Amino acid sequence: MEKIFKNLNDSQSAAVKQTEGPVLILAGAGSGKTTTIISRLAYLIEVVGIPPANTLTLTFTNKAAREMKERSMAMMEKNGAYPPLLCTFHKFGLLFLKFNIHRLGRQNNFVVIDTDDKKRIIKKINSELPTPLIASEISRYKNSLMSPDDAYKQAELFNYKQIAEVYREYENHLKENNLVDFDDLIALTYKLLDENPELAQETSQKYQYIMIDEYQDTNELQLKLIQKLCTSHNNICVVGDDDQSIYGWRGAHIRNIMEFDEDFEGASVFKLEENYRSRAPILKTANALIEHNRSRLGKSLIATRGEGEDVAILNSNDENEEARKIALKIQKLLDSGVEASEIAILYRVNVLSRSIEEGLNRAGIGYKLVGGVRFLERAEVKDLISYIRVITNNHDDFSLKRIVNKPKRGLGKASVDKIELAAHAKGSSIFEYIKTVDFAELEALVKKKNATTLKKFIADIDDVARVAKESTYEFIDVLEDTFHLKDIYVNMQDGQERILNMDEFYGLFRDFIKNHPEASLDEFLNELTLQSEQDQVEGESIYMMSIHASKGLEFEHVFVIGMEEGFLPLVGDGSDLEEERRLGYVSFTRAKESLTLSHAGSRFYKGRRSDLAKSRFFNEAGLCDGSLIVEKKTAYKKGDLVRHKIFGTGRVTGVSKSGREFKLQINFAGTKRDILASFVERL
Ligand code: ATP
Ligand code: MG
Repeated sequence: MEKIFKNLNDSQSAAVKQTEGPVLILAGAGSGKTTTIISRLAYLIEVVGIPPANTLTLTFTNKAAREMKERSMAMMEKNGAYPPLLCTFHKFGLLFLKFNIHRLGRQNNFVVIDTDDKKRIIKKINSELPTPLIASEISRYKNSLMSPDDAYKQAELFNYKQIAEVYREYENHLKENNLVDFDDLIALTYKLLDENPELAQETSQKYQYIMIDEYQDTNELQLKLIQKLCTSHNNICVVGDDDQSIYGWRGAHIRNIMEFDEDFEGASVFKLEENYRSRAPILKTANALIEHNRSRLGKSLIATRGEGEDVAILNSNDENEEARKIALKIQKLLDSGVEASEIAILYRVNVLSRSIEEGLNRAGIGYKLVGGVRFLERAEVKDLISYIRVITNNHDDFSLKRIVNKPKRGLGKASVDKIELAAHAKGSSIFEYIKTVDFAELEALVKKKNATTLKKFIADIDDVARVAKESTYEFIDVLEDTFHLKDIYVNMQDGQERILNMDEFYGLFRDFIKNHPEASLDEFLNELTLQSEQDQVEGESIYMMSIHASKGLEFEHVFVIGMEEGFLPLVGDGSDLEEERRLGYVSFTRAKESLTLSHAGSRFYKGRRSDLAKSRFFNEAGLCDGSLIVEKKTAYKKGDLVRHKIFGTGRVTGVSKSGREFKLQINFAGTKRDILASFVERL
């Protein structure tokens, strides 16, 4: 009990003790919201005596879930108990579907596909319309619980009728191959609970206390799911911050926070107003930025950690200089004893990570890329995954086609197409067809040599599948020995690296089986897919990740790169400046001790070098050179040398105040001019 309350303030303690009924904790960044819900979890289990299995705690990213689990377990004394379920929404959906998908007439050895697979399936169905558009529309349909029929009826434009058709075929493909996409993990879970009231009742009784972190990022479907989980009670505690809502593009709704009281009647509301994370200058900068948003509740947040370093601004000519400067700064931090895992580099768009990666590599600084170009999306790893998929589910034609000629077995695309047609004509999968068809019939379709190859390929898969059933651990060696997958890459230019990646994958597999001896292959695959969407293994290196992935996390030292117009804020079709500002706010508020904001004068992007303007967020956050002077009174003084974009170099001859800024009198080669301080650079 002491452990639970010793680090909480009065409002936090009150929220922890309010265990019954709906509770909303609404507060700014770093005010201890997450701390409060994990303390509440510990309180429920340790003090109130609720069995851990009767609680459910949900959040959005794997890394956040892992950290929350560790922190809550550390608060609990009775550690031997069955651990509470604390995971992401998607993981919860996965577990739920494992036990219940049979009610939809589907088997529970389904495979979860990632965004990459999804796009490939779509592209195969329709290569005319832009794949990303179809992908996001399908996602939108699923999140609005619209069937392909609904989508078709609702579509007015021809293109949208077409998209609805693709959606129909896509759904059929998933069902036929027993695949499930990310949206399904939530949508099907909801569907099952909605269509089976007794199941909703039972599930709700199982999870008597529900807690949700980052509630501002839930969408309508997630809210509906939560309501189903609350069928038999209303013990729901949510925490969130409207200023950190960064998933608007995915349908997240601040409405869910604003109208919590309507969705769950009789809610108690708690506010937390002290920030325990960031040094005062960091918080001040973040607060100044977010104040420019109009649609916000407007909460106050007071720094409790005292003064500290000013927010640093890093100016570079281009991304290479930026990478060098950041590597240098990080090396200094490491040399002074800062732990690598306490340093993070954040960016709005993933492509920005590349130049920094190079800089860190050159400096010999280890880093971990969270999300980004994913290990699992590399071709050689995808091949391995496809093998495992075919082994667990023979009917996965998509994966089978990927591997049937890898390593090369002399099978051309034409032969494979013929087989596919023949198989579909018989209403069977390619695998099934080759396995059951008479050799003579096969030979009539493709060359004899190919017919033999295909029969052998299928027999080999069957053999390996048998091993997998007996011993999952041995399976991976047998897979390599049977198909000689590494041979594919031996003579390739970057073969060595690819083989290393394969070895890493094999290692990952062995680790997983060691930790989950009872697990089957499809469980391994699903875990992998779920992890890959967000993050990778932990370790002794600094972190690099998108701002989206950094939500809820904190680091001693944070670098935000790409602070330029076009990158942060990202401007363009469908971008929302207020959401961009919230992203800025999220990124700034990850920092505890120091925050460095970096911008480059130009970047090589999309095949060409472009000049970039400094982000307006510097100005808004009160960080333009001019207002810095106002803040710090380290004003320009007579005699300072400055440079102006147009007038060139000059010397300050006088300083006066002009509104919130300072006005400088500058002598540019004999001509005196009055210029606002923010328009010049000190030399
Ligand atoms: P975010 O909005 O970024 O998700 P949060 O509100 O969830 O932030 P936490 O991550 O729970 O905030 O807490 C931020 C930091 O403050 C953590 O390091 C936590 O240990 C610390 N903290 C929380 N509450 C207190 C407290 N009452 N006293 C001292 N430190 C606290
Ligand atoms: Mg949090």
